[in-house]
Parts: sequence; C-alpha cells; structure tokens
Amino acid sequence: MQKLQSYIHGKWVEGSGEGVPLIDAVTGETIALSDTKGLDFDQALKYGRQKGETLRKMTFQERGNMLKKLALHLTKKKKQFYEVSFRTGATKVDSWIDIEGGFGNLFANASLRKIFPNQAFDVEGDPIDLSRGGRFMAHHILVPKEGVAVHINAFNFPVWGMLEKCAVNWMAGMPAVVKPATNTSFLTEAVVREIINSGILPEGSLQLISGSARSILDTVESQDVVTFTGSADTGRMLKSHKRLLEESVPFNMEADSLNASILGEDAKPGTPEFDLFIKEVRNEMTVKCGQKCTAIRRVIVPENLVEDVQIALGKSLGKVTIGDPRLKEVRMGALVSKDQVQEVRERIQEMTKTASIVYGDLEKIQTIGADTSKGAFMSPIVMREDNPYENIAVHSTEAFGPVSTIMPYKNMGEAIELSKMGKGSLVSSIATNDDKIAADYTVNAATHHGRILVINRESAKQSTGHGSPLPLLVHGGPGRAGGGEEMGGKRGIKHYMQRCAIQGSPTTLTEITGIYQPKAKYKQAEKHPFAYHWEDIQPGMSLKTHNRTLTDTDIVNFGNLTWDHFYAHTDITSLEGSIFEKRTAHGYFIISAAAGLFVYPNKGPVAANYGLEEIRFLRPLYHNDTIHVRLTCKEKVDRDQKGTELPSGIVKWYVEVFDTEAVDEEDKLVAIATILTMVQKKQDVFHEIDRSFLEEKLSLLKEDQKPEWGMMMPQHMLEHLEGSFKLGRGLGGDVEIITPEEHLDKVKETLYTYEKMPQGYKHPLMKQNELEPLKHESFDEAKKSFLKAYDDFHQFHQENPDEMISNAVFGELTYFEWKLLNRKHINHHFEQFGLI
Ligand code: NDP
Repeated sequence: MQKLQSYIHGKWVEGSGEGVPLIDAVTGETIALSDTKGLDFDQALKYGRQKGETLRKMTFQERGNMLKKLALHLTKKKKQFYEVSFRTGATKVDSWIDIEGGFGNLFANASLRKIFPNQAFDVEGDPIDLSRGGRFMAHHILVPKEGVAVHINAFNFPVWGMLEKCAVNWMAGMPAVVKPATNTSFLTEAVVREIINSGILPEGSLQLISGSARSILDTVESQDVVTFTGSADTGRMLKSHKRLLEESVPFNMEADSLNASILGEDAKPGTPEFDLFIKEVRNEMTVKCGQKCTAIRRVIVPENLVEDVQIALGKSLGKVTIGDPRLKEVRMGALVSKDQVQEVRERIQEMTKTASIVYGDLEKIQTIGADTSKGAFMSPIVMREDNPYENIAVHSTEAFGPVSTIMPYKNMGEAIELSKMGKGSLVSSIATNDDKIAADYTVNAATHHGRILVINRESAKQSTGHGSPLPLLVHGGPGRAGGGEEMGGKRGIKHYMQRCAIQGSPTTLTEITGIYQPKAKYKQAEKHPFAYHWEDIQPGMSLKTHNRTLTDTDIVNFGNLTWDHFYAHTDITSLEGSIFEKRTAHGYFIISAAAGLFVYPNKGPVAANYGLEEIRFLRPLYHNDTIHVRLTCKEKVDRDQKGTELPSGIVKWYVEVFDTEAVDEEDKLVAIATILTMVQKKQDVFHEIDRSFLEEKLSLLKEDQKPEWGMMMPQHMLEHLEGSFKLGRGLGGDVEIITPEEHLDKVKETLYTYEKMPQGYKHPLMKQNELEPLKHESFDEAKKSFLKAYDDFHQFHQENPDEMISNAVFGELTYFEWKLLNRKHINHHFEQFGLI
C-alpha cells in the first residue's frame, strides 16, 4: 500500500515505520498509509526559520500578490481536490466550504496588502509625542517573527483549516509547518503538492507533516508561533507543554465550543425569523455532518415555543437525504470515521442521562447509494433538555456530529445566562426582528462569544450564516473555545509579528518608519513635488509655497459660491460669546486656498486628487490674515493597475497651513490635512516610439539577422508591423472581434500595463508554425513601406482625432490606445531581433 508523503526540508519524504491506514469514510477502503516515523521535525523547524528570510524581506504588497496568484492557481485546479474530498465523507457543498472557502481565504487576505505600508513591516497606530517641544517621540512597529508558524490542525477542514492559518502567517512574512489531523491528511497533502509544484511560494514557506507528530513541539523556540485546532483535552495538554512555557511560545487554540443559537421572543411561528432560525439550525447540524467547530449545539428557545421548534426542526431534518456524498440528491454525507461515529454516540449517551432524544435514531439510518455497514453514517439527533440549569452536561459535552439540544428560557436574562453556561464559544446567533432584543443579547452576551450573528428578514438574503467564519472578522472565542483569534484581517496577521516601540526624534522616526512624522526635518524638493513620478517621491520631500492674504471679499465670495452662510462668516454682529473675533474664513476655504497654493497646474505624473484623510482647523483665521503652506510627502501606498488607467500609486501628502504673520510659535500652525493623490509610475519598460527611433533601429537591422525566438525573419517582422499600422487606421476592412464580449474590458486593460508581451506570443489570427509570404520585392522597400505606414497611421488619427478603430483582440481602440499597443508591439519585435 502506498505511503502518503510529507514535505520537509525541500523534499517529499516518507516514514520508516509500518504506517497506519487512512480510511475512505464512505466505503471503508484503505486509501494510503500515513507514516511519519523517523521524520526529523527539528530539522523542518530549523529549515523554515532559515528559509523564512525571503518571506520576511518581501513587502506586504509582494506577499499579497503572491497569495492572490496562489489562490488563482489553486482555483484552476479545484476539480481534482473535490474528488479527494468526497473520500473524507464530505458532500459537494461541504467540500466547497473546505476547498473554495480555503482559496477564498487566500484571496481575502491577499487584499489586505492594501491597508499595509509599502514595506516589509507594519507601522501601528498614531505617533506618540513624548516631549513638549515635539523633538522626542515614539511609534510602534511590527516586524515578522523570525521563527516558523506550526499549525496543528483538526480533521474536519483539511484545506480551509490549513489555508485560513497559512494565509495569515504568509501575509505577516512567516513560513509555516502544517500538521493536519492524520485521518484526513491525504486531502491536505493533495493541495500542498499542488502548492509546491506551482513554485509560487519561496522554498521553505510551507512544509507538511502528513500524520502523527507527537514530538513536534519539543524543539519550538521563542520566535515560533503554534496554533492548534481540535479537542479541548489535546489543546490543554499541548498548551502546557514544557517547551512552550520555557520559551514563551505564543499558543493559539481553537477548541470544541458549544455554540448557542437563540430564538427571540418575537420570532413566533409564521414570522420569517422563525423559519430562518429553523433553517440555520438544520444547516449547522447537517453541513459537514455537524463536524464544524461553529456548529449550533445548543438551541435556546422561549419556553412556550419549545414544542413548535421541535416539530419544525424535525420536519426540516426529515428532508435531509443521507448517503454517498458524490450523489447530487444527497444532502448529508458520512462522518470522518467509524471511530468518530462511536465517539459521538458516547457523548450523546452522556447527555441522555437527563435529556431525551426527540428526533433521530442512534441505531437506524436510511442512506442512498451507500453501505451503512462500511461507511461512517449516522442520523441527525435532536435532544431536548427541559432543565438546563441543573443538568449541565448539555453545556459541557461536545458531540462532534449532527447533534443539537433544544432548551427553554423564560426571559432574555435567562437566555443570556444559558448562552454563557457554555463557558466561551466561537459564535452565537439570535433570530429576532426586534433590534432592542438584538442589542440586549449582543451587548450582554459578548463576553462569552467570539462572534454574534443577528438573523432577521432584512439581512437574510445576504447573510453568510451562523457557521461561516470570515477572514476579515475575528474567528476564535474566549474560555472553552480556546481564547484565540486565528483570523480577523489585520488583527490576525499581527499574531505573527513582533511589536516594538521605537523612540527617537521625528526625523529619525521618519527614516525608520518610512512615514513622515510631524516636526521632522523637511527635505526641500528641487522641483515641485507633483513633478516627480511615484518612484522618485520620498517621505519628507517638501515644498514651501508663496503667501496669500485672505480678504473680506474672498470670504463673502466663498460663502456665496458654496451657500455656506454660517454666522461667523456673514454676521459680525453675532460674535459675542463665540470663539470668533472678526469675520472668519471658512475652514473649507482655507483648505481650498491651501490647494490653490500648493497645486502644480501643469500636466504631469499626478493623475488625480484621490481624497482627504484627515483635516483639522487649529484656530480661526480672519480677513486680512496671510497664509502659506507646507506640502510634505507623508507616505506612499502602492496599488495595482486598475482598468484603463496607467500604473500609479497613492501618495499621502501632509499639508500644514501657517499664519505667516503670527508672532507666537504655537499660533503659527492654523490647519493640517492629509491629502491623497494618485501618482503615475515611471514607464521605463518600453522605448517610446517616434520616427527617429525607428529610423535608427532600422539602420541597425540586417536582412539576414536571426531572431532570438520565433521563425520570422527581419522582412517578415517589418511587414507584420506595417500591417498593424495599417489596421490601426482602419485598412483592415470589417474586423471581427474574436475576444468574447465579457472579457473585452479585461483584455483592453492589459494595454495600459507596463508588462511586456510574452516571448513567442502567437496572435490568434496569425498562421501557426507557418510564415506569411513576403509582400515587398526587397528588404529596403519593406523598410520604406514600414516607415510610410507609421507616418500614415499618425496622419490619419491627427486628421480624425475621434475615430475609434477596431482590433480583433482588443476591440474598439482610440488613437491613444493604438499607440499603447504599437509601443508594446514594436518593443516586442525589436527585442526579438536584439535591436533593444
Ligand atoms: P485531537 O485534539 O485529538 O486532534 C487535533 C490535532 O492535534 C490533530 O492534528 C492531532 O493529530 C493533533 N494531536 C493530537 N495529540 C497530539 C500531540 N500529543 N502532539 C501533537 N499533536 C497532537 O482531535 P481529533 O481530531 O481527534 O478530534 C477529537 C474531538 O475533538 C472531536 O470529536 C471533537 O469533539 C473535537 N474537535 C473539535 C474541533 C473544533 O474545531 N472545535 C475540530 C476537530 C475536533 P493526529 O490526528 O495525528 O492525532
């Protein structure tokens, strides 16, 4: 029997023992053997720490783009993982949550790159002034830890469980060693193999131990981070591991939690909330056969509605078909193993010492397309506990399967108390259309739950449901749930970073953080800062403007223009008792006047005004006061090229407005703001095309010159480019656009990027592996015709500036877009012949 391999130290390896069989949950067949005997876990940890340097040095933007690329790659291969996933007992819907939910998590975390600085570490919160004069300050930075993230995972989500955690540690700049639960490790292995083969992650970013790893924590170090998902017993045992305590290794635990859902007193039968509640409970019981850390185990309902809930839930569960998860008509597949079925039964028996089973049968079950004697099937079980205060087994026993218990409450106080008797859960929910009830429950129960969902008719259609942890929200809960927070957007990423307070002068802290700190020395720019491209702008780069006196007429005119007739600007008889002494300039006028002073009017790299982040008016300015402005680059934030825009980044500018004539130092600064501009990036990938450039290159081109790729000879190439100039002025006749309508925008956007055409690119309408016959008598004639076609193309568009000409691949293009296309195209072919 084949052994499942592990990926350690850059190699696929297998253990030296006999191995334990991995069983198909549906058929009982052995899939492979898991064997980790003799594998060197210490070596894996050391290798991760050493190789982690590459990830640590990448910027957040680079890490995010890497995650996005990985998510796209895995999405393309998803079909193969579904096949494997069925063998864990999961239906298609269950597998979708695990597989595509996992990839979705990579996408969501990749997007977080936009909220981090354009560097390898994060700068947290606001600067802290530690002196009166503002020359000594502090800031907090977070740097990636130099260890490895060790993830010990549960059996229920072999893909999502790995990716929800890895996405976060990779974004933080940390490598991972993943240890999935043995019994479903074959699915994790399939995904890891694809990740490694893709070559998208730097080597060492991901290692896998496909099976048991009892000694994995024996050599962890203080820079490592350990996460655990599984049973509370194992979690507690690992949490108190001697090595973790000695080395102060952070340990994040997500354990069994007895999640509760509450039916609001208003949600009576016949209301949408009642139906939504029943549906939610049924889904949470049956999706993944209830083997979900977020599943609803406790159904807390008003005492007069217990019967109604019991009947409605029974009816709803009655429609759930059980059997071979591959079959479309099957709604619930198998549990992970027969051992798990046995374990769930034992837990139910503990609870039924006081509770009674009101739906389902522990012995009998009807399945479709499956042999119940071989597969790990069981019926959903609903219990009822009428005395949940005295009989507390329902609050402490987790039956990790399709099992829930209904219990009554008298008033909201009791419902809250019952929900807390689980001693900490990952998630709770309440179905109510009364927002007062919702507020009462959420605020008073929040101490005991990681997340609370309010279910009602208004959000029902878009609601992601009780059981879905979302990458941008906290996932984890207090107490029994482990006390961890595995996800949560930026919060989650910070678990893998070390926070350090940095103290020094504002000038030093500007250099360290890459963000201009108020009162730091300015770096006087040689040109106007708006005349620089994105790459050449640096934090601290600054401009001091000329002066402007704000006149009475200015203030009156601004009031008339904007209709802002607030008394301080218009009525000087009402100033008594106010903070104003004279006719006061509008705050927005001061900011507008500031813009008038600092804006560089010429067309340049600044593509647009992107917005304003903060604005403060420190004291009033009156008519006849004179101002000047300091414009200083505060921070740069990279962004992806979007739509039909040239590549650009965001620059945040710190704007300080000064009262030029103020005598006291503290009166000088009158307003501050942070404004954002979109600044174009330098285009240094392509040579710009003009006639003299073409003439020079043509003079270097020899008739028999060999191409660096492809089969074209120089004359073919010139005739091909001549053809595209002709097409570009509409000489191609009726062009049929071959790109499907829905992809056309995306394809056109590629013209705006600074990415080269791939070598060996084959135009879909050109003959493949065969050259067009030559059209011109001689090479010289081809050169002349090429230049003429170039001239004609420009002349045509200058005479017809609004003309759009179709291109078979890119659709209708403007003159500007044809020029972008020609620039890429000519650069591509000139490179082919070593001309550039
Ligand atoms: P375990 O707690 O036994 O295992 C969870 C993970 O820990 C697995 O990867 C397991 O590896 C590993 N592990 C166990 N012991 C050690 C150790 N000494 N050193 C290192 N790693 C260790 O949970 P199970 O998966 O067996 O499930 C048992 C019960 O846990 C379920 O019935 C359910 O009640 C609960 N559970 C709760 C989950 C939740 O999210 N709330 C999720 C899954 C389970 P290996 O598989 O190789 O033993």
